Amino acid sequence: MALRVAIVGLGKIARDQHVPAIAATEGVELAAVASRNAALPDVPSFPTLKALLRDGPPVDAVALCTPPQGRYAQAEAALAAGKHVLLEKPPGATVAELAPLIAAASEARRTLFATWHSRFAAAVEPGRAFLAGRRIRDVRITWKEDVRVWHPGQQWIWQPGGFGVFDPGINALSILTHILPRPVFLTEAALDFPENRAAPIAARLRFAGSRFEVDAEFDWRQTGPQIWDIVAETDSGTMTLSGGGRKLTVNGSVLAEGDNREYAAIYHRFRELAAAGQSDVDLNPLVQVADAFMLGRRVTVEPFMDAG
Ligand code: NAP
Repeated sequence: MALRVAIVGLGKIARDQHVPAIAATEGVELAAVASRNAALPDVPSFPTLKALLRDGPPVDAVALCTPPQGRYAQAEAALAAGKHVLLEKPPGATVAELAPLIAAASEARRTLFATWHSRFAAAVEPGRAFLAGRRIRDVRITWKEDVRVWHPGQQWIWQPGGFGVFDPGINALSILTHILPRPVFLTEAALDFPENRAAPIAARLRFAGSRFEVDAEFDWRQTGPQIWDIVAETDSGTMTLSGGGRKLTVNGSVLAEGDNREYAAIYHRFRELAAAGQSDVDLNPLVQVADAFMLGRRVTVEPFMDAG
């Protein structure tokens, strides 16, 4: 029987990725939607998760595509109602709120899946395999995009718990923490806050590994070419993961490249986890971001004005 999924929060990522990925994944079907201001034709739609759980058709799982602030209450309610729960990234607005959810999922024998979509990009596993046998000298992350293009009108992203530039930056950290053979930890950070915003628009981070350092630069003010690159210098040459993990080159030769299949892979994995009664919650990328807010030097920069 198919895994009947309800999407909660019918916004950009739900429409761009979740709806088509569910439709394209065997064994998963979209059974309902809960969104205050949006609905899908031909899919039972409800203004809130509470109304969906009370009045809606039977569902096995919910996919929380709402902003991170407020996710905890939705996840808690869904688990209490016996549903499997998929969390968009970042999995919460704080690190500690995940512990009670992990415990609740375990007690209810339901799946809690904290997704990191960038880890499913086509060249990430080949990149991890390449680094596994290599001596790493240093790593540079450049994650520069135009917030006006990718997050038009999203107010939550600038509010506390919205993460600012770490909303895309955490994708880089989700790849980094997955492909490195050994853990790294933050040693230094500077966070640029526009004087009219509660979240950073840019950040520079340095991490230490056991024998190498990682430098990362995140910036939301990028116009022109958008850059989502991770470059590692190794004893076998330069490894470049570009396009947010979609292309792997080593010393200029392409070793792997693929289309965007991240969300189809996510739903495939969600179905497997639910069938096996297992959870998958890796908090490492969220911990790195929390450390950046904890250790980072705060720099005030010019105000950020939305277009118009
Ligand atoms: P979005 O376009 O703002 O959509 C979120 C939806 O959640 C809204 O449309 C809204 O629908 C609902 N919502 C519930 N409570 C809300 C609140 N307090 N404030 C604002 N919206 C609220 O955001 P998104 O870009 O889809 O991002 C959602 C999550 O997906 C984030 O965690 C983000 O990091 C992640 N994500 C986004 C992208 C991307 O490219 N945009 C990529 C990967 C992951 P109603 O008003 O109808 O309730």
